Amino acid sequence: MIDRICISINNRCNLQCRYCHFHEKGYIEAIPMDIFEILDHVKVYAKQKFKIGFVGDGEAFLDFDKLRSYIEYIQDAPFVSAYTITNGTVDLPDDDWRFLEDHKIKVGLSVDGYKELHNLNRCNSFDKAMLTAEHFKEVTGHYPTWNATVGRESIENADKVIDFFKPFGTRVSFSRMIGKYGIPLEEYREFLLKAEASGLEVRRGGKDCTMYGGQCGAGINNYFFANGKVYFCGNCIDLPPVADSNITFEELEKMAQSLDFDRNHCYKETFVARQY
Ligand code: SF4
Ligand code: SF4
Repeated sequence: MIDRICISINNRCNLQCRYCHFHEKGYIEAIPMDIFEILDHVKVYAKQKFKIGFVGDGEAFLDFDKLRSYIEYIQDAPFVSAYTITNGTVDLPDDDWRFLEDHKIKVGLSVDGYKELHNLNRCNSFDKAMLTAEHFKEVTGHYPTWNATVGRESIENADKVIDFFKPFGTRVSFSRMIGKYGIPLEEYREFLLKAEASGLEVRRGGKDCTMYGGQCGAGINNYFFANGKVYFCGNCIDLPPVADSNITFEELEKMAQSLDFDRNHCYKETFVARQY
């Protein structure tokens, strides 16, 4: 059963984060993708909880009007919920923040931790991102949730990173840095345990992604739609796609591949990364 997808609504970003795997080989040309068609397929398929992340290889708020139209389009789908993640550099007018809040769209803000750490990897965007977080709180009454990538410097300054997030009182999704600046899974898992033990609300993945402390769901329950194609996940975007984005979820389910590997480890890292 597929219960989670991410949709990349654009392929453009105003940052060039040091560790961004999406754009490390340069920007690829955006291929048009009919997102309403994907949402139609979701509406037909979703008979139980189904989560859509409007997140991918670009900054969704650069195309907020489109994002708004997709959110409006799924309002009649009873089992479908959605979230989005922003890099925090595009602050929205009050009405747009209210729109997201009123439509129960969870907003995650990508901040890696304290200023020097964040700025090291994310183009000195800390001040702007934090202003956006404060504005979001002014309008909604609470901070957004946080998406923090854990790399070598985060591990070496774990207490400082954890202490940074504590005052906000909202959940943190720590994900493991991969690629050329990546850290081993074991170190990432130790970091998660430490963050949890500190009392911080930490996202723990189920069968979706080892990058969130869960198990790899590649080929089972979650897929990533971008540039007219479907991939196992966002990190598999540089592997051959699973299908074209106009595939139905019933068809996707049928072609679920029996990938034989230890799901406590990342599918891509386990085998595939070696081949490409
Ligand atoms: S904000 Fe996200 S998509 Fe944009 S460069 Fe940074 S990591 Fe990549
Ligand atoms: S292949 Fe790796 S990055 Fe993709 S869902 Fe599995 S664990 Fe996560």
